[in-house]
Formats: sequence, structure tokens, C-alpha cells
Amino acid sequence: TNTNNNKQDIIFRSKLPDIYIPKHLPLHSYCFENISRFSSRPCLINGATGQTYTYYDVQLVSKKVSSGLKTLGIHQGDTIMLLLPNAPEFVFAFLGASYCGAISTMANPFFTSAEVIKQVKASNAKLIITQASYVDKIREYACENKLKIMCIDSPPEGCLHFSVLSQANEKYMPEVVISPDDAVALPYSSGTTGLPKGVMLTHKGLVTSVAQQVDGENPNLYMHSEDVMLCVLPLFHIYSLNSVLLCGLRAGTAILIMQKFDIVPFLELIQKYKVTIGPFVPPIVLAIAKSPVVDNYDLSSVRTVMSGAAPLGKDLEDAVRAKFPNAKLGQGYGMTEAGPVLAMCLAFAKEPFEIKSGACGTVVRNAEMKIVDPDTSISLPRNQRGEICIRGDQIMKGYLNDPESTERTIDKEGWLHTGDIGYIDDDDELFIVDRLKEIIKYKGFQVAPAELEAMLLTHPNISDAAVVPMIDEKAGEVPVAFVVRSNGSSTTEDEVKQFISKQVVFYKRVYRVFFVDSIPKSPSGKILRKDLRARLAAGDLPQ
Ligand code: AMP
Repeated sequence: TNTNNNKQDIIFRSKLPDIYIPKHLPLHSYCFENISRFSSRPCLINGATGQTYTYYDVQLVSKKVSSGLKTLGIHQGDTIMLLLPNAPEFVFAFLGASYCGAISTMANPFFTSAEVIKQVKASNAKLIITQASYVDKIREYACENKLKIMCIDSPPEGCLHFSVLSQANEKYMPEVVISPDDAVALPYSSGTTGLPKGVMLTHKGLVTSVAQQVDGENPNLYMHSEDVMLCVLPLFHIYSLNSVLLCGLRAGTAILIMQKFDIVPFLELIQKYKVTIGPFVPPIVLAIAKSPVVDNYDLSSVRTVMSGAAPLGKDLEDAVRAKFPNAKLGQGYGMTEAGPVLAMCLAFAKEPFEIKSGACGTVVRNAEMKIVDPDTSISLPRNQRGEICIRGDQIMKGYLNDPESTERTIDKEGWLHTGDIGYIDDDDELFIVDRLKEIIKYKGFQVAPAELEAMLLTHPNISDAAVVPMIDEKAGEVPVAFVVRSNGSSTTEDEVKQFISKQVVFYKRVYRVFFVDSIPKSPSGKILRKDLRARLAAGDLPQ
């Protein structure tokens, strides 16, 4: 029986009215639509050097980049990889690709060579834009497959310099007709299950998501051209790309780029540039709450402190509130596949609402949310816990070359199933209370258990393995492994840890290895992760 009947669905919406969204515009045109109002104002500030690009500069360089990409043979529909830390060139490359109708796939520059190559292959990237220090991760593969590598700093032999793009003549920009349903960004996410997959975010999707946040007479996330927003979260993660970069561009905000979070330079930048908006993640919030040096800086300019990407505890929220005397503090809730923002704190609206601490926002405008019983798919009323589902133009088009995973995630009626468990209270505020899906979040970064389990199973002395999250104060969660040794083997915890750490980026390292006789599984062979998580929580651990 189809219990997913529309008429029976209990649907939640924003308290803000729907708005007009120019969904027909390509992402770059939408971002720069109001540029005449602030073209000579600062757009990007490089925190390390102080170098500033105005809105005029950023648009012009992005057009030049599109022209350069065309000359390099990048066509509409092609994919380029950005393997970069936060830098102005990241922004130019992303927008330049958008002008070409090309797609940017973003990867963490700390990825190991194997991890980068996996994503280059899966995304079919034609060009890799990176920094000289990361070239070795990809050089051999690029050579064999005739891929071009470009560096934003001094390029090693055989690589191009970014000036090939940034100094091209904008007169020769490609003339392309971009459809709203064309992909423009391709972040990787494991979603609710399995290995990382390419998430196709379209022009229409990102335009809708940004509009849901910053457009309208009473924007949910109010920002304007006098604001200075800190961009310390990595742009290769969609949270920063969307809610910081794209929202900032649309609103005309100055975006202060910081490559890496370090508490002292971070506080110095906030004080020096009188930062007004701070989009953070819980580990940064924790560092601010716990560092005594914070009291030596003037943080009174900050009016909005936003946390997202992972749960933020109430205590932490209260502790950090005291550090920002003039700021409203609240959360946003995102998931890469959802475009990514599902809910946003209404205290950030131009005409703000009262909010409760611990809430992760209210569903964004022009979208529908429902909470369903995970077993029956029946939608639930307020205050009842179930799986959070969202519907709207902002969600992904699907996973690249993976219709089955797409169908598992977006149902026939267009609802995206998040794998997060939560409830909506009497004031329309959403609270996340648990996670149905496998994914582990280390400081907001995704760790896909399936990826580590597959790796563990390639070890000759391991016959079965399961990876689950363990609570950790600093990181939120860390991956730990339950491992079954092969007959007669005496592999140690350290051996297993090293075996993994050689192959993965730092946050995917397993923190503990517990040897067990068997991995608990359902009759259909699924790992019973809940049982393992419960054992961890109860401290019932084999030595
Ligand atoms: P990602 O696709 O990497 O952005 O990860 C998405 C997942 O992060 C969500 O499905 C949630 O499980 C988690 N998440 C994001 N924002 C929050 C939040 N504010 N509170 C709790 N969990 C969150």
C-alpha cells in the first residue's frame, strides 16, 4: 500500500512567506545580478596578505577565467577539479567554470593521492587546479591520462600557472546557453549509505538555495554590502561554498578569506576587519568557548554567529554566546544532497524571530519539510521524532551515474530522505536528535564507514569489519573499527590503525580498533551499526 499519500502528508513550511526566485538565471548571473549597487566595494579579501578584490574585479577575473578555460579545451558540461584550500583563485575558478557551463568538483587538498585519484576518475575531471605542494598526489595519474594540472602558485615543470586563465582576454568568453537543470557543482558525499558519490547540484538548485537564505524583503539570513563575513570554513565543502561564498556574493558582502583555522590569527582578523558575520562549525565554536585568549580581543563587531554541519550542544551554544556581546547565535542545518541548506535559524532574519537554543533552525522558504516514521513512511505531527525529509527546487538533481542511489534518496514524489532523525516543535523549530544513516562526522567532515570497511577487508589478516562513530569532545565524532581477525592471525590495533592511516586523509583515521569474534548483522547481511554504537555507549568493549 502506498502510505505516502500526498493528502495525508503533514507538511511544515517556513514562517516567512515564499518569495520570487529567478530560477532561470545561471548561477553566476544570479550572484552578480545586483552588482551595479556594489561593484566598487570589496568582494574578496585575502586574510593572509590583505589583498582585496572588488566586485568588479571578481566578475572580470571570472570572465577571463572562462575565456581561458575555453582556450584550454574545457567545454560546456566538462568537469574541472578544484583541489585547493581557501583562496581567491578558488572563487575565480568556480565562477569561471560556471560561465563556461562547466562543472566544478571540489576535493579536500589533504586527501591522499588514492582519494584524489578516485574522485578525479569518478567525476571525469579534465583539469585539476591546485597548489604546487599537492601536485605529487596527482602527477602520475594526470600524465598517464593526459590531464592538465594548473597551480595557483609557482608551478612545477609540466604544470600550468593560473595566470593562463586569470589573464586571458574576456572578449573570447564562451557563448553557451545554460539550462537551469545543468549541473554546476559536484561535491562528493556518501549520503545515507555506501561510498562517496558525486552530488549533482544544478544552477537552479543553487540559485534557489541561496535565494531561500538571503533574498526577499525579510531574508532568513540577512546580510548586506556593509557586512564583512569570515570565510574560514573550507570552500571545498558545500556549506562554505553556498552559505558563505554564494550568499555573500549575492548580498554584496565582503568575504574575508582565511586558509586555516588557528585561534589567534582568527581573532586578529575578526578584530582588524571588524567582521560582522561568522559562519562556523562546532569545533571552532568549542575553541572560542575554551580559549582564554579570546578575552583579549574586541569581538563586538560580530552580529551573527552561525554554526552548522554537525550538532552543537546547548552548553556550548550558551558558553560561546557570552564571548560575542552583540551577536545573535544560531544554527543552520545542511546536507550536501539537499543543496545543502534545509533549515536556518530565524534569529538571523532581517526582522528576527525568537529562537530556542539547541534548535537547528526552521525549514527554509519555498520548500516543504516532513517528518516520517522510518518504518512506515507515514508523516508525523509536531513534537514526534522521525526521519527528516525535504522537497523543493534546491535539492540535488541526483548522484552522478548512480540512478539506484538517487532513487533510494529521493522518492517518487520528490522528497529527499536525509537519514537524520528529528522533530519540529510548536514554534516550527527543528531539533535533530539522532542519525539513522551510517555517516560519521569528524569536525563536520564526512567519514563514510563503507569506505573504511572496504579498505579493512583488503587487509590479509582481517576477515570482517565494521566502522562506527564514537563520541569525542573535540571532533564531535571519531571513527572506530570493530574487526574480526582471519584465522590464526594476531594483527594488533596499531598495525590496523597504520594500515588505514597510510591510505586516508587525517579525519578518516580509525581511533580505536576492537577485535571481536563476529560482526553483528541483520538476516539480510546489513551491519547492525546501532548495536555497535550501543556497545560503545555502554562501554562494553573488548580489549
Ligand atoms: P554534509 O553532507 O557533509 O553537509 O553532512 C550532512 C549531515 O551533517 C546532515 O545530514 C546531519 O547529519 C549533519 N548536520 C548538518 N548540520 C547539522 C546541525 N546543525 N545539527 C546536527 N547535525 C547536522
